[in-house]
Amino acid sequence: MQKPTSQARAPTYSVVAPVYNEAEGLPEFYQRVRAVMESLGEPWELILVNDGSRDRSLEVMRQLHAEDPRVRVIDFARNFGHQIAVTAGMDYARGDAVIIIDSDLQDPPETIRDLVAKWREGYEVVYAVRNKRPGETWFKLFTAKLFYRIIYLITDVHIPLDTGDFRLMDRRVVNAVTNMREHNRFIRGMTSWVGFRQTGVYYDRDVRKYGSTNYPLRKMLKLAWDAVTGFSFFPLRLAIYVAFALFLLSVLAIPVVAILRLATGEQLFEGQATAISVVLLLGSAQFFFFFVLGQYVARIYDEVRGRPLYIVADTFGYEDEGEPQRHRVVMAEKSDREETPAQG
Ligand code: UDP
Ligand code: MG
Repeated sequence: MQKPTSQARAPTYSVVAPVYNEAEGLPEFYQRVRAVMESLGEPWELILVNDGSRDRSLEVMRQLHAEDPRVRVIDFARNFGHQIAVTAGMDYARGDAVIIIDSDLQDPPETIRDLVAKWREGYEVVYAVRNKRPGETWFKLFTAKLFYRIIYLITDVHIPLDTGDFRLMDRRVVNAVTNMREHNRFIRGMTSWVGFRQTGVYYDRDVRKYGSTNYPLRKMLKLAWDAVTGFSFFPLRLAIYVAFALFLLSVLAIPVVAILRLATGEQLFEGQATAISVVLLLGSAQFFFFFVLGQYVARIYDEVRGRPLYIVADTFGYEDEGEPQRHRVVMAEKSDREETPAQG
């Protein structure tokens, strides 16, 4: 049962922004979001999720909340990563439409107007498609392009090309996605997976004004791998193709070598070097598939363990609202910890 008071106060729009070391840019981000949201003329909230920032971000966020109570803050106990921060923001959002946007001003808040216009037309998911990406290295552009194409080819869901997490989701979509509690999350895939009416609007991605990217190659690879394993069994199926190819090779190669030996009278493919090369090649193929299997097993383990997706240290702006749906599950209650008798 929903509490009628918090229902009555629920805003039309929830803007959700993950924050990791963005202290410098946050005031401008807030100003621009506010300008756009106020021009829409309906109640809104801005949910900032502090993903374990090491700079003054939390201080700035608390200041913004003090000045404008429509700014609400979720403070993680540590860095849980971008996709988890977005998930928490969606858990806490109460709007009829939820907008996911980066807090580093690379996603221009003004685009929210276009997203909202499409939502008003009746679309339940409106994703922002990148036109051009100034100021990004050719390496990032190339890997991003490659990544979106590969995902497109091998996954079972249609994940639109050149989109990030910048998007608007209707309440129904938000409910569907927040009900999926899988641990290795690829949110743009999950929002595609749930279906409903989806469309895109084009926008120009801006240059990062402050700070630097928090997505090093390592995190990009993790995200890409989450996308692949979360939405495709292709890497597992790959083993059977390799098995067929090797089988075919052995069936063909053995008679060919035999015939050549008889015809030429020479001892072709003789000796250790050949044997060692073949063993090494097969060994590497086998280890590759161990790795692939292991990746899926690790993900099963992640789910079976059933840990919460994130731990919240503090919230600002939820004091008198009644607890949001998942608040109790994920909140590390100080009082709980004190009351629990020491183990052992
Ligand atoms: N971010 C986060 N946790 C992280 C890394 C990034 O919440 O561990 C946030 C960051 O503050 C930004 C957004 O996620 O709002 C996108 O990150 P970033 O700009 O570093 O990625 P890029 O745009 O370079 O892909
Ligand atoms: Mg960025």
